[in-house]
Order: sequence, then C-alpha cells, then structure tokens
Amino acid sequence: MTDKKNTLPRVAYFCMEYGLDNRFKAYAGGLGILAGDYMKGAKEFDYPIVGIGIKWKQGYTDQLIGADGKPYDTYHNYQYDDFMEDTGVSVNVTIRGRNVQCKVWKLEAFDNAPLYLLDTDVPGNEDAWITGQLYGWFGEERIAQEMVLGIGGVRALRALGIDLDVYHFNEGHALFAGFELMREKMEDGMTFEEAWAASREQIVFTTHTPVVQGNESHPVDRLLYMGANLGMKPSQLRRLAGDPFNMTVGALRLSRKSNAVAKLHGKTANEMWKHIHGRSEIEAITNGIHLGTWVDSAMIEAAEHGKDLWEPHQKNKRALIQFIKEKNGVQLDENKLLIGFARRSVPYKRSDLIFSKPEVIAPFLKEGKIQVVFSGRAHPLDDRGKEIAANLVAMSRKYPKAVVFLENYDMEIGAHLTRGSDVWLNNPRRPKEASGTSGMKASMNGVLNLSILDGWWPEACKHGVNGWQIGDAFESKDETVQDTHDREALYQVLLEQVVPTYYGQPAKWKEMMKASILTTKDEFSVKRMLEEYYELLYKSMFGGRV
Ligand SMILES: *Cc1c(COP(=O)(O)O)cnc(C)c1O
Repeated sequence: MTDKKNTLPRVAYFCMEYGLDNRFKAYAGGLGILAGDYMKGAKEFDYPIVGIGIKWKQGYTDQLIGADGKPYDTYHNYQYDDFMEDTGVSVNVTIRGRNVQCKVWKLEAFDNAPLYLLDTDVPGNEDAWITGQLYGWFGEERIAQEMVLGIGGVRALRALGIDLDVYHFNEGHALFAGFELMREKMEDGMTFEEAWAASREQIVFTTHTPVVQGNESHPVDRLLYMGANLGMKPSQLRRLAGDPFNMTVGALRLSRKSNAVAKLHGKTANEMWKHIHGRSEIEAITNGIHLGTWVDSAMIEAAEHGKDLWEPHQKNKRALIQFIKEKNGVQLDENKLLIGFARRSVPYKRSDLIFSKPEVIAPFLKEGKIQVVFSGRAHPLDDRGKEIAANLVAMSRKYPKAVVFLENYDMEIGAHLTRGSDVWLNNPRRPKEASGTSGMKASMNGVLNLSILDGWWPEACKHGVNGWQIGDAFESKDETVQDTHDREALYQVLLEQVVPTYYGQPAKWKEMMKASILTTKDEFSVKRMLEEYYELLYKSMFGGRV
C-alpha cells in the first residue's frame, strides 16, 4: 500500500463544498457529496491526495417549511473546531484591493484524506464574511469566495510545503487556482503563453453541469475590479474564456484533461463544448460512491451469500418509517410500497411528475397502496424551485397518510431514504441529469431504481431485472411534449410493472433486489472511480511522478 503513495502522482483536489458528515455543514448537494466520497475513498484506498476547500461558517441554507407550507431559509453559525486542527498557517489574498487573511485548518476527522480548509473569519479581517455562506451570492461575492478557494488554496499548499504533481478542479469554481499557477510561473520569467502551456500540464478538471446557463460566467471588467486576474491583461483573460468570462470554458482551456461524470454526460458535454477551440478532451468517468458511508453491509453480505434480503431490508424500512414519524408525525405502513424521491428542487428534475395526472395516481394514494416520501432544498434565491417544494408539501397535506415531505434535505435524510425505501424514483428531463449518485446508494441497498435513462442509469439498467427504466430515452426540444411522453411512461411502468410485482410477486422482487446490489456494488463504487481518475486523468501525461 505504501508503494502506491510513493509512486503515483500526488494530487490536490479543489472543491467549494465537501459532504463528509452530517455534522459538518460544508455542502449543498451532489457536488459536495461526490467530493466527500472522493476524500474518503482517497483515504481508504491509500492515494496520495489532499483536498482544498472552505471552512463555511454558516454552510448552505437550513431550509424549513413554514406553517403556510412554503420553504424559508435560516442560517446558523456552526462550530467545528473540535473536528479540525489549526495548522498555524495563514495566507493572504488581495481581493478588491484589500488584504484578506485566510487561516488554514486541517480536517481528517471523517476518515478522509487530509482536507485543508480556508477561513477568512479571523480577528482583524474586514472581509470575514467571505467564508460565511456557501453559494450565498452570485456576482462579486462569489468571485471573492472563489479567489479564496483557488488563489488562497495554492498559496496554502505552498505554505504547508506540500509537493504536488496534479491540481484537480472539481467544477469551475476553483479556476483561479490555475491563474495562481500561471502567476507563479510568470513571476519566474515565463511569458503568458509559456505559463499557460506549462500550467495546463498540471491541471485536470471535472465538469458537472449539462445546462449551458448553469455554467458560471463574469464580465472581464469585474474580474479585474476584484483582482482575480493576478496581473493578467483583459485581452489575455478574453483569450482564455471570452467576455463574459466563462468559468467552465476557462477550466477546459487551462486543463490537459477533463472528465464528465457519466458516459451519457460525456457525450452531452463534448457536444455542448465542441465549439471551444483549444480545450481539453473530455473523458467520461462515471461517479462512484463510498460504500462505507452509504451502504448497509448486511444487504451486500446477504446478496453475496444468497441469504434472505427481505428482513434486513424491512429493518431499514422500519428505521426510515420511525425517522419520518419523529420528524413529521406521520405513520407510514411497512407492508405498503414506499417510493423515495430526494432531489434539488429545480424544474428539470420534475419532482411532481408523478402527480401530473391526479385522476390516475390519486386512487393509489388514497388507498395507501403507493406511499411517496420526498425531500429536497431549493437554492435560497430560486423562487421557482421553492414553488416546486411548496407544491410537494401541498400534496402531503392532501394525502396525509401516503405523501410525506421531509424538510431540509441533508446527508442523514439521504442515507435513510436510500436504505429504507422500496423504490428510488428519478424522472429528470433527459439529458440534464449529469450523474445522480443517490440512485447508486439506493441500488446497492437493494432499493430498486425506477428511472428515466439519464445520468448513470443507462449504464446500469437491466429493465425488469435490477430495476426499471421509464420510457425509452426519449428527448424533445418541446418540453411539454417530453413531459407528457415521460408522464405516460412513468404511469405505465409504475402501475403495470412495479406495483403488481411488489404486491404479487415477492420472490421476483427479492431476485431484483439481489441483482440490483450485485450489478452495481463494484461498478459504481468510489474505488473504481479513483482507479479511472488515475488511469485517465492523473497519469495521462506521465507514468508516475514528475
Ligand atoms: C447523494 C446525495 C446527493 C446527490 O444525489 P443526486 O442523485 O445527484 O441527487 C445530494 N444530496 C444529498 C444529501 C445526498 O445524500
């Protein structure tokens, strides 16, 4: 094992958020969960990886449901000093002309590879707010946060004396780390062109958002005003990523290799960015999950040894039902089908698709033959997303015994739902779901996926064997057409296959649970993902260390 640490490229992984543990509120959603699982995998499988992130004082919103049934946002100051160690190191970044001191903490408390977190909340800092709220703002404030992550992050690595071969940007948020790598080289005498080429050899990038508008950009003037350019000229910034300056385009041009997070996403991303000259090649490396965090080992064990899966599953289901009772006061029935659905509240995820033809679904809900548990937060500034959540809450009031909405989706809710549901529902408007790791958690726990062929699911789905596909990978430019098509497909497979199998063919259901676990537990593990990162991204330009 130590051999690996001595011969493989040493990697610094940059991410805005890390979902490592429910007590540590430094994540918003899937991006952070991926980063958290990655750091735990790096530790478990002994890779020479360190992480760079931010010590968020308030984290992401705690989104609660008011008496009026609408979501509202609350923030708390969190205390994490018990989990982490003060490195004694602090670095400076000049932001909007002011010196910002960034204190560096080290976190290893969650069986993760060393994670260094920057913190501007130090006495004497006028800009202590920068590391306050994760994704709290979009414009200058977001740039300030990204400067701390990227520029502060590279400076922290230097101050800590950590030697590295590869800088991995998980999402475009970390792009300014690339600017800092270029600045160092220009200071040593390289030209802009030389520094760009040399930095490119050190950087790899993971792209996430298959929606063009979801990719952050800023006017070049704003970058200059903030001081993010680190001495580069406006014309040079434009050459890197246009004006407005697109962070994803910048990262694609400043990296030697990129990756998308599932095979289908690889196709979508290559198509989406094909007009970008001089960009890195985008490989497809499907996400994987950290089994120790998300999967009940009793389920894997039972599937591998041909033992009964029902009792260990029912145990997880009862734990979920108890959890719901404590949270919402609702008593669900362990002998009735329970469907789980937890997603960010955004329109393309179509959380309420299942309700879109009430005359079809209402009888099943009234009878309690189908129970559905939802969870999901909207971005604090996204009114449309909040309407979606409010609509789900309204449905839970209409069908109080069969529909539940759990407020403030977090890792604890995610873990309960992906262990204790019978079916994991996912119906995004294809091809907008980049990966969808919650479905992997579910499948390895014997919770059967019922999903549109989007994200990771086309790679795993064997219809009627280890789960079900909704429809046939249909896509349309007309959203109404696509939604109608998918709604019909959802009702068809749910009512003609899922429900009858659950109530009428228990032996087949158990076979499917077993197949679900056995066909996904290795393929969609973080272990496989890390091996591919090393093969396709980190080792691509040289066999080992430089
Ligand atoms: C697993 C998980 C996610 C990511 O799942 P998706 O399938 O990408 O939605 C997001 N949030 C939480 C709390 C999770 O546990």
